[in-house]
Amino acid sequence: RAKAAGRNNAQWFEPTMLEDINDKLSLSARLRQALVARELSTVYQPQIDLRTGMLVGFEALARWWAPDIGSVSPERFIPVAEDSGLIQELGGWVLRKACADIAELQHELGRTLRLAVNVSPRQLRGTSWLDEVLAALAESGLEPGQLELEITEGLLIDDHGDAVDLLDRMRDHGVRIVVDDFGRGYSSLAYLTRFPIDKIKIDKSFVHQIESVDAGAAIVDAIIVMAHALGLAVVAEGVETTEQRRYLSARECDEVQGYLYSHGLPRDEVAAAVRRIEAGEDVGVS
Ligand code: C2E
Ligand code: MG
Ligand code: MG
Ligand code: MG
Repeated sequence: RAKAAGRNNAQWFEPTMLEDINDKLSLSARLRQALVARELSTVYQPQIDLRTGMLVGFEALARWWAPDIGSVSPERFIPVAEDSGLIQELGGWVLRKACADIAELQHELGRTLRLAVNVSPRQLRGTSWLDEVLAALAESGLEPGQLELEITEGLLIDDHGDAVDLLDRMRDHGVRIVVDDFGRGYSSLAYLTRFPIDKIKIDKSFVHQIESVDAGAAIVDAIIVMAHALGLAVVAEGVETTEQRRYLSARECDEVQGYLYSHGLPRDEVAAAVRRIEAGEDVGVS
């Protein structure tokens, strides 16, 4: 439509759209500065093995706080980073920082930990991502098998082969691939058998339906059964209540992650949270 309006197509834009565009432009400029000024940080959300109740690993989540603008949610700045090409730099930084932090935490806690890192489709373009992953592992001393890369279903479905080849090569090195937000956007399940993946993460919208929607529990159950039939591990995100935890445990979901246990934590708060979680003090919290 804008094209049809020709030269004057600016008229077609609503003032709110222009504001939106300006907002995105200034946010990407601001994000570029933030990477230099070290305003970004990472937090770590615990993942718990349901059979043993032990904490087995963490998902690294990016955070942005700046004195002038306060905190900006990743729901806002990750899409901006993706559109502006900053995601490569941001994602590489998160990866290196998280590997280094987890290596330190292993030392502090005296055990092996797993790390899950989110990866945007655009980060897999080009050839450097595999090198970045291998370098971050080598620098930190983590084994490839301790690293999980969380990708979204869209990547598998929209991709024309290159990204999937890259995932294959990462798996050859021992890195594990997880489908994040499983069930959210797409209904085709065929890709689960076709693509190189190790695990699925059930989207929190389904987890929240366990109690609130009639078929909710049945859907979650079906996802778990299907994943296991395909030899995939299952983690549920967004677990907030003991009721949800009990159901997932009864259905033999492998792992859980959610506010019932902990929010994402700064590195220095992790050790205390691990002790609290494994002492079972989350029980009754919702
Ligand atoms: P995600 O990977 O699906 O991460 C889960 C999100 O759910 C996180 O939001 C987490 O804080 C939140 N969450 C965890 N437990 C609960 C719960 O019990 N209830 C509810 N309601 N929410 C819970 P966050 O940190 O705001 O991140 C949002 C999204 O931004 C992430 O979704 C991920 O897609 C993206 N993201 C965050 N960090 C990175 C990063 O370093 N790289 C990339 N590419 N994406 C990132
Ligand atoms: Mg994730
Ligand atoms: Mg997720
Ligand atoms: Mg999600």
